[in-house]
Amino acid sequence: MNLETINKLCCPFDKSDLTLTIINKDDNENVLEGILVCSKCSKVYPIVSGIPIMSPDEYRDYNLEQPLLENWIKTLNNGSKEQFQISDGKISKIEL
Ligand SMILES: [Zn+2]
Repeated sequence: MNLETINKLCCPFDKSDLTLTIINKDDNENVLEGILVCSKCSKVYPIVSGIPIMSPDEYRDYNLEQPLLENWIKTLNNGSKEQFQISDGKISKIEL
C-alpha cells in the first residue's frame, strides 16, 4: 500500500491518527511491512505484505500476530533509546 493512502488511515475504533513505522518498503514508496499505532488507544495494526490488518478485535488472533510483531519490535528497539513491547495487540513503552 502506498504511503499517501496509509497516511489517510485512522483508528477504526476512535478515529484517531495512526503513527506509521516502516519496516520494509519498495522503490515506489509502497509500504510492504510496517506498524501502525493509534495515538489514542495504543492499538497496533500491522501491515503485512502491503495490507494493513485493521479488523475488529474479534476477528484478530493476537497469538498469530505476536511472533511477527515481536520480531519487528526487536528491529525497532535495536539501537533506539526507547524500548517497546507488545501484548494483546497493544504497544507500550518499557520503563527502563
Ligand atoms: Zn485507537
